[in-house]
Amino acid sequence: MPAYPSSNIRTMLERVLPGRIQGCIDLAKMSRWRIGGTARYLAEPDTETEVARLLKLLQELVVPYLVIGHTSNLLFDDQGFDGVLVRLSSNFSSISQLDGSRVEVGGFAWTPAVAHRAATWGLGGVAHIVGIPGSFGGLIAMNGGSLRKWIGSHVDRVRVVTLDGTRVELSQKECGFSYRNSVFQEAGAIITSAVLALEPSDRHTQRQEMLKILQDRSKKFPRKEPNCGSVFLSNPDMYKIVGPPGKAIEEAGLKGYRENNARLSSHHANFIVNLGGATASDVLMLVHKARGDVYRNTGYLMDTEVKFVSRSGLVSSVHVEAERRFGQIVASG
Ligand SMILES: Cc1cc2nc3c(=O)[nH]c(=O)nc-3n(C[C@H](O)[C@H](O)[C@H](O)COP(=O)(O)OP(=O)(O)OC[C@H]3O[C@@H](n4cnc5c(N)ncnc54)[C@H](O)[C@@H]3O)c2cc1C
Repeated sequence: MPAYPSSNIRTMLERVLPGRIQGCIDLAKMSRWRIGGTARYLAEPDTETEVARLLKLLQELVVPYLVIGHTSNLLFDDQGFDGVLVRLSSNFSSISQLDGSRVEVGGFAWTPAVAHRAATWGLGGVAHIVGIPGSFGGLIAMNGGSLRKWIGSHVDRVRVVTLDGTRVELSQKECGFSYRNSVFQEAGAIITSAVLALEPSDRHTQRQEMLKILQDRSKKFPRKEPNCGSVFLSNPDMYKIVGPPGKAIEEAGLKGYRENNARLSSHHANFIVNLGGATASDVLMLVHKARGDVYRNTGYLMDTEVKFVSRSGLVSSVHVEAERRFGQIVASG
């Protein structure tokens, strides 16, 4: 935090978002993984104008901030987050059909609801996101998807508020989508809505496809313990020779391996589950162990999809933080 006393920061935040600033957020209660220390503030803007005013203020105050959705891809530091978490309010949850096959989605819309609504309108192309438990802004920032598909391929335009509070629309090309990546992971801009260009289909086909996806996921993925989905990214070269990360971890003998209260799931080894009271250090140690053993077994170094949020608000891939803490992975040892 900068040289401003906390009480002054809170007062200034309250001026921009009256009644929508909370302090001392317990990340071990609030985050999807149920891990992390305390976040200084949570701010929930209701309109684009409020998002713009808030971002301008945060720039002026030089206070670290991070936009979050449902935190289903984030590991927070045990030391907490010494800044402002910005979460769009439920006012940004609308999903509407613009014309024929174009659909407009708010940045805080629930991702599975987008797949269901598209199916109701007889539109295809997004059934694969039906089981992804996050906000639509988070999905776009991560360029998320499943079954080797990603949301970026159906994005027409994305509306954002930039760091200085300017509102801009970006074309699909300007979003810089690649595998689980987009310009939004670096930019600090906040996605407020997006327009999708979908494919004509029919309600029944889409519903059947979604049902099958949900059934497969409920068989394969752990359902009870808190987790953040797949931890390691699939690498196409490794996939051809060894298979997906879950298989590589299993073959390294680590399925079910435990580090204090975190475990490489015994349902699916690419998931790390919180057995109750797990810490970020436990998860980082498991990531280091799995990465090292798979490397020594196969020669492939797996990178992570999940992001680590440091106390000062730096966001990095979890494997980068694990390497920073426990050292580089070496061929033997
Ligand atoms: C059980 C489970 C299964 C999962 N399965 C999948 C899967 O099949 N495919 C997949 O891709 N992912 C999967 N995930 C991971 C996760 O759900 C996705 O990455 C999701 O899209 C993240 O959305 P979120 O709202 O939780 O974002 P968060 O985790 O809160 O944030 C993720 C990133 O997006 C940024 N962000 C969030 N909102 C905005 C915004 N409005 N504007 C700009 N940036 C923003 C954040 O700063 C952060 O960098 C799974 C997770 C779980 C828990």
